[in-house]
Amino acid sequence: MKMLFLFIDGVGIRHAAADNPVNSEVCPTLCRLIEKHSKPIDACLGVEGLPQSATGQATMFTGVNCAKAMGKHCEGFPGPSLRSIIEANNLFLQLKKRGRKVKFADAYLVDSAEDLEVRRYKSVTTVMALTTPETITTADDLMEDRALMQDLTRETIQDRYPDIRVIPPQRAAEHLFAIVRENDFTLYEFFLTDVAGHSLDYARSCAVLKTYDRFLSALVRYVEAAGITLVITSDHGNIENMSERTHTFNPVPLIAFGPRAKPIFDRVNSLEDVTPAILAAIDSM
Ligand SMILES: [Zn+2]
Repeated sequence: MKMLFLFIDGVGIRHAAADNPVNSEVCPTLCRLIEKHSKPIDACLGVEGLPQSATGQATMFTGVNCAKAMGKHCEGFPGPSLRSIIEANNLFLQLKKRGRKVKFADAYLVDSAEDLEVRRYKSVTTVMALTTPETITTADDLMEDRALMQDLTRETIQDRYPDIRVIPPQRAAEHLFAIVRENDFTLYEFFLTDVAGHSLDYARSCAVLKTYDRFLSALVRYVEAAGITLVITSDHGNIENMSERTHTFNPVPLIAFGPRAKPIFDRVNSLEDVTPAILAAIDSM
């Protein structure tokens, strides 16, 4: 039994509104999954203030309430104390301990994990992946379609890598599905939703969501046919309210779909529950 985890940054649950681009005309597949296979979960973590990426993601990938541990919501890249929580224990390390084959499908444009280690600013997922370097995919993997770009289509790297061709999002779904089939657990992170959410540019947010939805639509067909469990969640709201530049207090969707969806669905009520629920589901596979 295999599992795919799609982490999509900055997508909260909110009622339909003229400034909410998460609607069925823009992203029909995502909306259908939210409507039929999701529940709203808490991203505020019992700590005052707007939820932020570093603590939200660290909580999602460790099962530790990192906002409480830090005493506040922390933005952007995790600092030393948050990094040490992630390095001590995380989803990838736990899966490795269980002998599961794990891949982080977002390619790093480096030659090796060592090149990544020396980067000054590392995201939560980078810190986690570096604890299990065999999960990391690099420029070589991308060239051979064994990894995805964080933008799906590779458009954002055309200036630096003119030899890497632009692909449609449906092709990125094919590439990801091939990775999923070779691993027990695959993670793919997409953060352009959060970037667009901060922009106050409604058209830009629609474009990003449409691209992601084309990818998701193809991917859902593949994983459904193959009996793969799909989990999708976010670290905080943002794009669902384009009238505000900041994140939101809205809950985020926990989408669980496929053979092991129910126990995950039943167990998760906040970001803190995501890693324990995934591990319990994998243990029962
Ligand atoms: Zn975020």
